Amino acid sequence: MFFKTIDFSKFSSIKVGVPIEVLMLERGDEVPTDRMIIGHANNLLVSPTPPALMMLSKDFSFMELANDMLTVGCATPTGKLLSFAKKNDLQGFEFISKLPGSIGGMLAMNAGVKSYEIFNILDAIKIDAVWVKKENIEHGYRFAMLGGVATEVRFKTTKGFSLDLLDELVNLRSNQPKTASAGSAFKNPEGDYAGRLIEEVELKGVSKGAMEWSEVHANFLVNHGGGTFEEAKYLIDLAKEKVFKKFGIELLEEVQLL
Ligand SMILES: Cc1cc2nc3c(=O)[nH]c(=O)nc-3n(C[C@H](O)[C@H](O)[C@H](O)COP(=O)(O)OP(=O)(O)OC[C@H]3O[C@@H](n4cnc5c(N)ncnc54)[C@H](O)[C@@H]3O)c2cc1C
Repeated sequence: MFFKTIDFSKFSSIKVGVPIEVLMLERGDEVPTDRMIIGHANNLLVSPTPPALMMLSKDFSFMELANDMLTVGCATPTGKLLSFAKKNDLQGFEFISKLPGSIGGMLAMNAGVKSYEIFNILDAIKIDAVWVKKENIEHGYRFAMLGGVATEVRFKTTKGFSLDLLDELVNLRSNQPKTASAGSAFKNPEGDYAGRLIEEVELKGVSKGAMEWSEVHANFLVNHGGGTFEEAKYLIDLAKEKVFKKFGIELLEEVQLL
C-alpha cells in the first residue's frame, strides 16, 4: 500500500474538494478497518475534512472471461467494462454506458438506469477476500450493504449485446447537464421525482456561489467552476427544507457527503 495525494477539486466529477492523502490498496494488502473506501468519486461531495480515505490501486483493474464467467476487478472503470461487453457480445451491460465511475462504486450504489441495475446481472462479489453470493447481500434502489471492501465481481454471461438498447439508454441521457456534477443529488422518493419537487419549490436555476440547481435538470447540483463544499451543502439543505415544508417529503441524498 502507498499514499497518493488526490486533489478532489480535479478528481471528483463535481470538482469540489481539496488535496487529500488517500491510501492506495494493492493486491495482497490487509484492508485497514479505520478508513473509508472510495471509488472514482462520481457520487461524492468531499468536504475539506473527510474521514480517512482509501482507494483500490490499478492492481484491481482487470477483466477475465473464462467459461462464460466474467470476473471484473473493482477498480475497473465502467467504460472499460462496457467496451469489453460490446466487443465480446455480452448481454445485460448496455445500461452501464453513461454511468461514470468504478465497478466498486457501482456495486456499493447498486447503480443503474430505470429498471436496469448492476445487481440484476451479477452473480457474486468478493468482499474482504470472501466471495458472497448476491442473494446474501441486502440491496435495493441505489444501495447495497456490502459491509466491506469489494475487490472483484463475477457475472454469468450470455451472448447478445444489444446496440438498440444501448442507443435507447444513451438517448435517455440527452436531458442531463454537461456541467460538472455528481449525477442525481437526491434519490427519487417513491412514486415521485426529486427533480420535480425541486422545481416545485422554485429552486431550479437557483445558485449559491458557483454551485447551482441545474437549469437543465433540477436534481443535478452543478459546479460552474470553483464551487465549494459549503455552497453545495447550503443548496442541498435548502432543497430538503423547502421540499419538506411544502410536501412533507424527506429528500434523501444520493450523492454521499464526506
Ligand atoms: C453525470 C453523472 C451521471 C450519473 N448518472 C447516474 C445514473 O443514471 N444512475 C446511477 O446509479 N448513478 C449515476 N451517477 C452516479 C455514479 O455514476 C455512480 O454512483 C457510480 O457507481 C459511482 O462510482 P464511483 O467509483 O465514482 O464511486 P464513488 O463515488 O467514489 O463512491 C460511491 C460509494 O461507493 C463506495 N465504494 C466505492 N468503491 C467501493 C469498493 N471497492 N468497495 C465497497 N464500497 C465502495 C464508496 O464508499 C461510496 O459509498 C452519475 C454520476 C454522474 C457524474
